[in-house]
Amino acid sequence: MKKFALVIGHTKSKDKGAFSETLGLSEYDYNLMVAKELKALCPEMFDIYTHEVQDYYQRQKGLAYKVNQKNYDAVFELHFNAASPLANGTECCHYFNSKKGKAIAELISKEVSLYYKTTLRGVNGAKALVNKQDRGYWFTYLPKAPAVIIEPFFGSNPSEAKLFKDVNLYAHVLYSAIKKI
Ligand SMILES: [Zn+2]
Repeated sequence: MKKFALVIGHTKSKDKGAFSETLGLSEYDYNLMVAKELKALCPEMFDIYTHEVQDYYQRQKGLAYKVNQKNYDAVFELHFNAASPLANGTECCHYFNSKKGKAIAELISKEVSLYYKTTLRGVNGAKALVNKQDRGYWFTYLPKAPAVIIEPFFGSNPSEAKLFKDVNLYAHVLYSAIKKI
């Protein structure tokens, strides 16, 4: 069986990520629920990790040390996007030089957008991270396994965020996407 790491983006305190008024939840709290639902669907398939360190680079270095002890088929960091109320769409980020990362990013974005009828951002919903300054760069670079950041929707867009309010449903959509890897 394939094995995947589910990393909750941001941290339990201080940096909880964006807060979605529509969901009434921060990225951290929302995605922790999503990860727990996914693990409940297939406990052997998923390990859940949370970040404890505030400094972004140190946090990703510590995480990579842990996930690199195991042979994951892919590692995911769960987020949602935030910008203006009209910004919308689905996107997954990968290290620019990772073919597998790119393919997985495209697959997850495609499956999520097909189900929810969201738009695919960028080219096929995949965003290549090239520079150390790119947000999320170290998560996609440091793990041995293909590493993909999932940004399924904009928490700042009321009509889009509403679609993802059902955590159980979103976990099912992600689960069927991940099973295709
Ligand atoms: Zn985030």
